[in-house]
Amino acid sequence: MEKDRLDPWGQSAVKDYARLQEEFGIEPVAPLIPRFKRPSAHLSRGIDFGQRDLVRILDAVDHNKPFAVMSGIKPDLAFHLGNKMTADDMVYFQSLSKKATVFYSIADVEAYTDNGLSFKETAKTAIRNVADMLALGLDAERTIAYKQSEEMRVMRLSTIFSRGVTNNMLRAIYGERQIGLYLSALVQAGDILMPQLPDLGGPKPVLVPVGADQDPHVRLARDLAAKYGSEFSFVPPSAIYHRLELALNGGSKMSKRTPESGFTLDDSSIEASRRILNSFTGGRDTVEEQRRLGGRADICPVYDLYRFHFASDEAHVQTVYDECTQGTRLCGDCKREAAGLARKFLDEHRRKRDSMMDEAKDLLRRSRDYLLSKGRE
Ligand code: SF4
Repeated sequence: MEKDRLDPWGQSAVKDYARLQEEFGIEPVAPLIPRFKRPSAHLSRGIDFGQRDLVRILDAVDHNKPFAVMSGIKPDLAFHLGNKMTADDMVYFQSLSKKATVFYSIADVEAYTDNGLSFKETAKTAIRNVADMLALGLDAERTIAYKQSEEMRVMRLSTIFSRGVTNNMLRAIYGERQIGLYLSALVQAGDILMPQLPDLGGPKPVLVPVGADQDPHVRLARDLAAKYGSEFSFVPPSAIYHRLELALNGGSKMSKRTPESGFTLDDSSIEASRRILNSFTGGRDTVEEQRRLGGRADICPVYDLYRFHFASDEAHVQTVYDECTQGTRLCGDCKREAAGLARKFLDEHRRKRDSMMDEAKDLLRRSRDYLLSKGRE
């Protein structure tokens, strides 16, 4: 059987999440769900499937202690649906406590090392991405947004960490890669551990919400937290992992690298509809077979659109699943309904996002001033 791959820079494929948990030591989220007063859609729909030390964050929430929610998004293109999932988790975990601060890293070093995009090219996209985050519900008052390339703490930490890792260690986690990608991995470890530096409040729980394919970065940061524990007293970072969304074109995962596999929040409603209407499905070859055997929602990217993004509530997800698997729902109608929901979401989101561009610039300015002022103390 083909092994599941976790490649933060490539085509990850996960067929068996239980096996993945076993192989990489990721713990299931399900036993912790009773501790959430109001679980998010990601938690209650099993989209967030795995975690590391999530209990630290839940304890911080219960005891009203400070914690950070940290994730980075590469400003190589407009937000795509995978970025939206990370953003949804960041917004949700920030909402759990007034003591939660989001650290949002604009991963422009990674956009350069992985995609060859200059810092100048990614600067514009970065502002739109921050506006996307705000439109998705991020509380700007408790957010620090910064560019990797401009944040000296991140650069300093990655330089320090570069003496603590060997080629073998990086090869074991990431496989054989170009040095630039190893560098960006160290920079991301700097991102993950920065919220615990003394001038930013010192050691504290940090939650990293990411897709399953980003687990190598979390493992590296946790190894480094342990390695530099005596120097910085780092608390090992916690993580929550969401599933990878099935690709509309039948590939293993939606990816920005393959536009037809999904759509971005900048694609026109017409284009997004077109991709959904042309999507691969879990349907049968004929209507007669579909009615008799039912569809296969579990392998259907259109079902993922409902479950991960656009279903109005749990009952709606369940209805789509039941009607599909019992053969009372046909793929053409199902795709048309999903396309309508996506169009509605995209139109509303874009309106909101475009009205938040000034707020995004303001957040970046305030964050830079705050980080500079803390550095001077
Ligand atoms: S009916 Fe909908 S959910 Fe079921 S296989 Fe067809 S498109 Fe997918």
